[in-house]
Formats: sequence, C-alpha cells, structure tokens
Amino acid sequence: MQTQLPADLLATRAGKTADTILRNCVHCGFCTATCPTYQLLGDELDSPRGRIYLIKQMLEGNEVSARTQLHIDRCLNCRSCETTCPSGVHYSRLLDIGQQYIQTQTTRPLLDRLQRYLLRLVVPYPKRYGFLTASARLIKPFLPAKLGQKIPPKAKVLPWKQQNHARKVLVLEGCVQSVSTPETNALAVQVLDKLGIEVLRPPKTGCCGALSQHLGANEEALEFMRRNIDAWRVHLNEVEAIISSASGCGVELKDYAHALAEDEDYKDEAAQVSALAKDLSEVIGKEVLPEMTPPETPIKVAFHSPCTLQHGQKITGVVETILKRAGYQLVNVENSHLCCGSAGTYSLLQAEISEKLKANKLAALGANQPDVIATANIGCQLHLADGDVPVKHWISLLLERL
Ligand code: SF4
Ligand code: SF4
Repeated sequence: MQTQLPADLLATRAGKTADTILRNCVHCGFCTATCPTYQLLGDELDSPRGRIYLIKQMLEGNEVSARTQLHIDRCLNCRSCETTCPSGVHYSRLLDIGQQYIQTQTTRPLLDRLQRYLLRLVVPYPKRYGFLTASARLIKPFLPAKLGQKIPPKAKVLPWKQQNHARKVLVLEGCVQSVSTPETNALAVQVLDKLGIEVLRPPKTGCCGALSQHLGANEEALEFMRRNIDAWRVHLNEVEAIISSASGCGVELKDYAHALAEDEDYKDEAAQVSALAKDLSEVIGKEVLPEMTPPETPIKVAFHSPCTLQHGQKITGVVETILKRAGYQLVNVENSHLCCGSAGTYSLLQAEISEKLKANKLAALGANQPDVIATANIGCQLHLADGDVPVKHWISLLLERL
C-alpha cells in the first residue's frame, strides 16, 4: 500500500522498517480469516488488516486516539496472520514499532499504567515472582475462583542430573518457567544427557526480555538481553545451541540479533545468540532416539502448539513426530492454528477475550477425549491448566518413555 511517513521518522531504523512492512501489505484481507480477535469480535479494526491501517495512520502523523490504542492492545501478537499472509508481511515487527510509538504519543489511564508497571516490576524477576506466587497460594482459599485459578501450584524442584559430554548446549532458564515449572528444564537436562549432550548453566541469566518488550518498555527489554549475553559470552564458542524449552522465550532469543543490531558493544554476540537459539524440539527432533517401550495401554495426547512455536518460529509437526515415536496416540485438534488466549500478560490485561479463547481452545483440545494435553510453552501450560485434562510439557511425556 502507499505510505506517507514523515521524513524525520523515515530517517530512523524503526521508520524505515515500518515503511517497508506497510508497503508489502496489499490489503487483501486473507489474514482476517485466521485472526482470533477478528473471529471473536467481528470488527475490522480488530483484524490484522485493520490494525496495520491504524498503525499506518498513526505513523503518518494522525492523532492516536484511545480507540486506536484499544484495538492495538487487543492484538495477541500471536502471528497467525503472518503464517497466512501471502505477501510475507512481518506484522509482529510492525506491531512492535506501533506499540513503541503509542508510548510516545499518549498517556494511559493511571490504573492501566500501574498494572503494567507492577507486571514489569515482578514477573521477569524469579525471586519477586516466586515470593508473589507463594504468598498468593496462602490466601488462595479466600480469593475469587477465577483469580485463584491463575495461581500456579507449588513447583517440583528436581536436581539437574547429567554427566560431562563433549557436546554442549546452553539453556535459557527464563523467569516464569524457572519458578512455576522448574522441572521442565531439569527433565530436558535428563533427556539431553541420555543423548550425550551436556547443558551448561552459567549464573546470572534471567528473563529473555519478551515481557518488557510486549509491554512497550523497549530499553528494559534490551537490558535483559544484554544481561543474558554477558552471562553466556564466554560459552558462545563451545556450545552447539542455546536451547529454550519455552517457545515464547525461544522466539525472543531468535530476535536478539535484530533488537541489538544498533548496539556496537553487543550486536556481534546478539547475532551469535540468535544463530544458536533453538527450541528444545528442534534439537531433540534431529537426534536418533533410543528404542522406547510404548505405553501398555494406549495414551491419547492432544498437542497444543503454542503460537510462538508454530507462527513465531515456524516449527510445525516436530513435537508431534517425537511424541508419536515415543508411542503416544496423537488426537486431532480442530483449529490448532488459533491462540489459546495466554499470550504473555494478555490473559491479565485482556481477561475477557482471553477467557473466551481459552474456552474455545479447551473444547477443541478435549473433543477427542485425550488423556493428557501436551504443550511447549509455560504461558499456555499454566493458562490451560484449569481444564479437566492435565496439561504437561511434552518433554515430560518423552522422558517417561525413554
Ligand atoms: S497482512 Fe498480508 S494477508 Fe493481511 S491484508 Fe496485508 S497483504 Fe493481505
Ligand atoms: S497477531 Fe494474532 S491477534 Fe494480532 S492481528 Fe495477527 S492474527 Fe490477529
């Protein structure tokens, strides 16, 4: 489409990037068919095409109204539209630029600002988040049921059992997963150990930066990225991959190169991190797995592929193949391309839409009576946990058969 971004904006990297992305969009509307918010709300401005138009208007210097902000805020950043788009429009990057731009043009209502600030202050820091969830568990019986459901149960802390191997990888421990389900990485370490791969665990790594970035705090996100790079720097030449068992963090690691491209002190290592970043399934899917004993009675698994895995990282069918090789029966899941409504902090900031998406997703996942739901991202795992079927990270199912 035609654009008329002001010259001062076009002189910036963000402006140039936005202009290129906008010009790639031919306004065909194919993406609307797979957009969860458009399907739910039926408003063109809650579709990718509508949001692209809103961002274009905004960047061209038109007023940013509360309505513009509302439709942008309602976007899940699920990237389903990117998968559908025949013109290769990099929507999420445009959204990111739009969200940063909004920060400079409007002031959110006080309560909204406070909520976002508190999320940034607590969630990316494992000690603070751990303290909050432990305290919340104490008062859970007195909380409304809906709020109580959001509090994760006490985590199982397992030791990292492994031997030294010539093949080495780093693993991102992250923030929410390291507190809520630390067993996921401990089990991943056991699986990798059986495959002859050692996991290095340097101190001082933390949140990948995604939470701050999606809340519009770009500089804070970059600081989290630099901190991880500082922790990994000495190992970058000895590892074959930097693994993430949470696809939401993995997609962010793969974007470090872009995020830090203008930082002279970090851009080379950021590019190296992005080149090494792999989802856990990408690494295990390429290995020759040992013979596995199928379960005595068939176990039916519904796999929920997180948006950050299938749309963000374009990894499809890999986990499903691993689980089939392990002897599980994969059941069909209708509309598997649609978001479950978790989407980072979306489930808290846009609770109503999120709950509807969750109800639809749980109905689709449960339709063929699975014994267990498997997934690959901590956000989805916690979000879907209040259904009737247990939700597990797929690595725990694999380890049970190894
Ligand atoms: S984003 Fe892609 S699919 Fe959507 S309107 Fe633009 S060109 Fe068409
Ligand atoms: S990222 Fe998801 S919710 Fe946002 S416009 Fe694209 S398909 Fe719709």
